[in-house]
Amino acid sequence: MINFICPVCGNELSEEEKLYRCEEGHCFDKSRFGYVNLLQSQKSSSKRHGDDRLMVRARRDFLDSGYYGFLRDFLCGICEKYLPDGGDFLDAGCGECYYSSGLKSYYAEKGKEVFVSGVDISKDALEYASKRKSGIPLAVASLFDLPFADESFDAVLNIFSPDADKEFYRVLKNGGYLIKIIPLENHLLGLKAAIYDNPYLNDVPDAQIEHFVCVKTSQDKMNLCLDSNEAIQSLFRMTPYYYKTGIDDQQKINNLNYLETQAEFEIRVYRKER
Ligand SMILES: [Zn+2]
Repeated sequence: MINFICPVCGNELSEEEKLYRCEEGHCFDKSRFGYVNLLQSQKSSSKRHGDDRLMVRARRDFLDSGYYGFLRDFLCGICEKYLPDGGDFLDAGCGECYYSSGLKSYYAEKGKEVFVSGVDISKDALEYASKRKSGIPLAVASLFDLPFADESFDAVLNIFSPDADKEFYRVLKNGGYLIKIIPLENHLLGLKAAIYDNPYLNDVPDAQIEHFVCVKTSQDKMNLCLDSNEAIQSLFRMTPYYYKTGIDDQQKINNLNYLETQAEFEIRVYRKER
């Protein structure tokens, strides 16, 4: 298990019942849900960060309905291939810990242990993550200023979260793995076609990243059949499209009770090499 470090002095934080404390006496209270806020207020400009509550709740509802279960299984299989004995994982931008809690269970079923730490900038997401009670220590922090010492982790998961690759490199051990999930060009095209007259394709970032060696890319897709307006609305609201769409277009799916749309992903595995 990798401990958080103090955002003030950089020493390791020890966990106590209601707070975390470093040897210099800096203390950080746990929230009533159990996560700790390690975001330094002087480094932040606004009170609320990250995904808002509507988006977080929509995502939790959608994920808990199991529509992306195939993706979680796909991720677990790939992690096991590169990290067969488990190890220390960081879920960077963990959201509600849907993927990393599944990963813990996946390894546990095989009698292996992974230690996962979760970091997200959204308190709302961490509130839901805490409620999963999956034993993942959780902190509010920026992915660009992670509360961990250099070369701590065997693997960093970067699942639909910002690319803080330089910082991921810092906290990974040499030879450790950075594992990303990237939506492909046609991802959710069916949903977009229901909303936009001219649906656009997603931009897919280049696979090469500085200082990392890309050791594996693997694609998976699934035709999602959403058979309730609630499921369609949840999917829409958990995407960035919702927030970029005017109210007239948002209303186009208000009476839609069935939608088929393709989900298409690529998992990319990178190895840190000095
Ligand atoms: Zn300290």
